[in-house]
Amino acid sequence: MSRIVYADHAATTALSDTALKAMLPYFNQSYGNPSSLYSFAQQAKSDLEAARAQVAACLNAQPEEIYFTSCGSESDNWALRGVAEQKKDKGRHIITSAIEHHAILHTARYLEKQGFEVTYLPVDGQGRVDPAAVKAALRPDTILISIMTANNEIGTIEPIAEIGAIAREAGVLFHTDAVQAVGHIPVDVQAWKVDLLSLSGHKFRGPRGMGALYVRKGVRLPPLMFGGGQEKGRRAGTENVAGAVGLAAALREATDGLAAESARLSALRDKLAAGLGRIPYSRLTGDPVNRLPGTASFVFEGVEGEALLLLLDARGICASSGSACSSASLDPSHVLLAIGLPHAIAHGSLRLTLGAENTEEDVAYLLQEVPRVVQYLREMSPVWDKAAGKPTWEL
Ligand code: PLP
Repeated sequence: MSRIVYADHAATTALSDTALKAMLPYFNQSYGNPSSLYSFAQQAKSDLEAARAQVAACLNAQPEEIYFTSCGSESDNWALRGVAEQKKDKGRHIITSAIEHHAILHTARYLEKQGFEVTYLPVDGQGRVDPAAVKAALRPDTILISIMTANNEIGTIEPIAEIGAIAREAGVLFHTDAVQAVGHIPVDVQAWKVDLLSLSGHKFRGPRGMGALYVRKGVRLPPLMFGGGQEKGRRAGTENVAGAVGLAAALREATDGLAAESARLSALRDKLAAGLGRIPYSRLTGDPVNRLPGTASFVFEGVEGEALLLLLDARGICASSGSACSSASLDPSHVLLAIGLPHAIAHGSLRLTLGAENTEEDVAYLLQEVPRVVQYLREMSPVWDKAAGKPTWEL
């Protein structure tokens, strides 16, 4: 295989050279434990704090509002379980959406088993949560609203500022899972009126295994991890200085280059969407306008997503069908079902997510190979009428 086209940046990204270079000294040179008193370790401590300040600046937050975690999933778990624990005597109702990542949905299910009630708001055909529905779902015992900033499968960007205003007015805490958004669209915790926000380094060319949770000053959040007094006693464990420095460097780089890179990726994405949209019985999933710059997601009738991925892999194309964590399962994606796609169609999904190293040539290659593979699979499919060139079903 001569060529690799990596079109799965929503799953993970390559570490940027800037982040790698920033991280290297902390593995074997400036390796002091930030909690130690001697000056050798205090250098690591001050570099950790500089990283925190950098992350805060990229979100329009204060440094003391940023807590480093091990990943986006940890941040999501901490936000939901922490607020539930803190507020359980005030109320036990949580509002979220049907299209959240499993880090939110599975935590919500866990909380339901602990006696909390969760409202899973439906979305429209483009994956959009209606702010009016959030407002209507509020109850006197609602303690938390958690709605993702942008969806990882279909790229739809949610009306976060509108939901934030509703939450603030109602005096209810608002968390957003911004794992797919940070580093890709402008993020402003103050303008959005969010109280908690999750992010993950490896989605914007930072290191894997490194995340952060923004917790607005004044919001009380009990720890998820107990032990030492790191992260102001709220998240125990010797700090991952290399990870924090790498995450901050990658975020700074992504934020500085955001306008240009987002314009470049949106143009490539639109070309891809237009080209693959010409395949009969295909459709773009997600909001056609308010979507992440690099995300082009589709369904192709009469095709199995898994088979599509395997044949694309044989041509050097890395893509996914549904979210990375569920691509090993044969269940159709909960996101595609929530936007109203029938099971049969939801099975034929393809998510192409473009990023830093993708070029016009990559898009040309995708536009050449994806239609061929779709055609090949349809010719072998029992649900495809070859003579008529359409699915055997009428939906
Ligand atoms: N939330 C969303 C929207 C995601 O897309 C992901 C990862 O795909 C996560 C949370 C989990 O992030 P991590 O892999 O850092 O745990």
